[in-house]
Amino acid sequence: MVTTGFSNLYRQQYISQMASQQFDLLVIGGGITGCGIALDAALRGMKVALIEKSDFASGTSSRSTKLIHGGLRYLKQLEFKLVRDVGSERAVVHRNARHVVIPEKMLLPIVEGGSLGKLPTSLGLLVYDLLAGVKAEERRKMLDRHETYKAEPLLNTNGLLGGGLYFEYRTDDSRLVIELAKSAYANGALLLNYAQSTKFIYDSTGKVTGATVTDHNSGNSFDIRAKVIVNACGPWVDLLRKEDNSLKGKRLQLTKGVHLVFPYEKLPLKQAAYFDVGDGRMIFAIPRDNITYVGTTDTVYNESIDSPNCTKADADYLLKAINHMFPSAGLQLNDIQSTWAGLRPLIHEDGKSASELSRKDEIMVSSSGLISIAGGKLTGYRLMAEKIVDLAEKKLGRKHTPSTTKNYRLSGGEFKDEDDFTNSLKQFLAQGEKLGIAPQVVSRWFYRYGKNVQQLFEIYLSQSKHANATELTETQYGVKHEMVHTLSDFTIRRTGNVFFNYPATKSQLPFIATAITSLLNLPEEAKTQQLSRASSEFEMVVAFKH
Ligand code: FAD
Repeated sequence: MVTTGFSNLYRQQYISQMASQQFDLLVIGGGITGCGIALDAALRGMKVALIEKSDFASGTSSRSTKLIHGGLRYLKQLEFKLVRDVGSERAVVHRNARHVVIPEKMLLPIVEGGSLGKLPTSLGLLVYDLLAGVKAEERRKMLDRHETYKAEPLLNTNGLLGGGLYFEYRTDDSRLVIELAKSAYANGALLLNYAQSTKFIYDSTGKVTGATVTDHNSGNSFDIRAKVIVNACGPWVDLLRKEDNSLKGKRLQLTKGVHLVFPYEKLPLKQAAYFDVGDGRMIFAIPRDNITYVGTTDTVYNESIDSPNCTKADADYLLKAINHMFPSAGLQLNDIQSTWAGLRPLIHEDGKSASELSRKDEIMVSSSGLISIAGGKLTGYRLMAEKIVDLAEKKLGRKHTPSTTKNYRLSGGEFKDEDDFTNSLKQFLAQGEKLGIAPQVVSRWFYRYGKNVQQLFEIYLSQSKHANATELTETQYGVKHEMVHTLSDFTIRRTGNVFFNYPATKSQLPFIATAITSLLNLPEEAKTQQLSRASSEFEMVVAFKH
C-alpha cells in the first residue's frame, strides 16, 4: 500500500491515500498505545491508518519515568496479576528492542521508619523476580548496611538499615514509540502526525464509520473511513468519548507526574535508586549519560491537558525528597537543568488518592462501536494492543489470527540475541572509525537507532565534508525516515537532547531548524516560527524557577 519513505516529505501522498479508501482500522492517537495497536493490526494483515494530533509520543509517552518495569510498588497494593503480566513482559520488550530497552541495576535502600522493612523487602523483591520470571543471575541481592553504603556513598547513613539490588530496564519512551511507528509503517500501516480527529462520522444506524481530520500543516480537513475505530488518546480519551456522546460509566482521573533533571556532577549516583519519600510514596533517581533525573510526583490534575508543567511546589517536593536521601548533594532549585511533566490517564475510583489508583488498562466500547482504551503502562503496551486487535477482529467478523508481536523485532532492534547485539556495536564502532566518526557518536547512535545506524552511515558519507556532519546526518535521518516535522520533534522526541543535554542543544537550535525546514522545503518563516515555538517550549520547562 505504501510506496514511499516514512517522512513528511510525502505528507500529501499519505493524506490522499488516507482519504481515498476504507480502512479496516483507524487508530486515533500516536502514543505507545496507538502505535502498538497499529503494528499488531498491520502484522495481522489489516489495512490500518493512524492519526496523531501533534507529534508521535508528544503526550504521556515521552513524559514517563522511562522504565520498562513490573511496578514493584504495585505489590504493596496487592496487584499480583498486574505485576506478573507486566513484569514478565519486560523481557519481551527488551528482546524486541534491545537498543532502546537496556537492563538497569536498581538500589532500594531500606531505612528506619520507612515503608519497607528488611524482611518484607527481601521477600517482596523475591516475589517480584519470581512473578516476572527473572533469570537466576539477575535476581535480587540483599545488602547489609555497609554494603549498601558502599554501593552508594551519597546515601544518608542516618537510619540506613541495608538495601536490595535488583534489575529493571531503562528505555527512551519516545524512541520506543517511533520504532513502533516505523515498524507499523514498514508493515503497510499509514501513520500521520500533526493530523487531528475533530469529528466522528456515523452511518444512518448510528455506527461510527470514520473521522474528519484537520491537517495541522495546511489547515485543511479530510475524512478517513474505517470499519473499526480505536480511540487511543491517553489523557484525551474522554474528550473523544464525549464527542461520541458515550462519556458514561467509567471516566478518567488524570494525575500529574513530574521529573527533574540535574547535571550528573550535581547528583553523581553510582546506579539508579528507588527510595521512600516518607509520605508512603517512592521515587526514582536515575543517572543517564551527563545527567541524573529524579521523579516522580503523583497529584490529581484538572488543568489543561495540552500543557502540563512542573510547578515550584512539584520541584520543592522532589528536592526535599532527594536532599533527604542524598544530603551531601545539597541540591537547589537553580541546579535543575530541565524538567518534564506527564499525565497518567487512570480510571477514576471513588475514595482513592492519586497514587492508590490502579494502573490497569481499561477498554470501553460505546454503542456507536467506538473502542476506547486508557490506563496501562508503557511496559504492557504489547498486551494492550493484542487485546484491542483481537476485539477489532471480532468486530470485523474475521477469523482469529494470533498476534505475532511477541517475537517481532522492532525497527532497529533486529538482533538475534545478546551476542549479536554486542557484536553489532563492535562492528559499527569499527565502521565508524574508518569513516572518521567519534566512538561516542557511534555509540550514542547505536542506542538510539540500533541496526539502522547503517542508514546513518550512508547519509554521513554524503555529508562528511560539512562542519556539523554528524548533527546534519542525524537530522536528515529524522526527516527522511522518522517523520520529523519540527525542531521540537527532533530535539525532544527523536533524540531526547532537550531533556538530557539541554545546555549544548540550545546553541544548536538555529542550525537544526535550518536543516529541518530546508529538507522539508518549508518557507523561511517556518524556520523562525519553529525556533520561537521551541524556545518558548524549552523556557516553559524551567519557568517555575523565575
Ligand atoms: P499518550 O502517550 O498520551 O498518547 C495519546 C496521544 O493521542 C497523544 O500523543 C495525543 O496527542 C493524541 N491525541 C489526543 N487527541 C487526539 C485527536 N483528537 N486526534 C489525534 N490524536 C490525538 N509506564 C511505564 O511502563 N514505565 C514508566 O516508567 C512509566 N512512568 C510514568 C511516569 C509518569 C509521570 C507518567 C505520567 C506515566 C508513566 N508511565 C510509565 C505510564 C505510561 O507513560 C503511559 O501509560 C503511556 O505513555 C500512555 O500512552 P498512551 O499512548 O495511552 O497515551
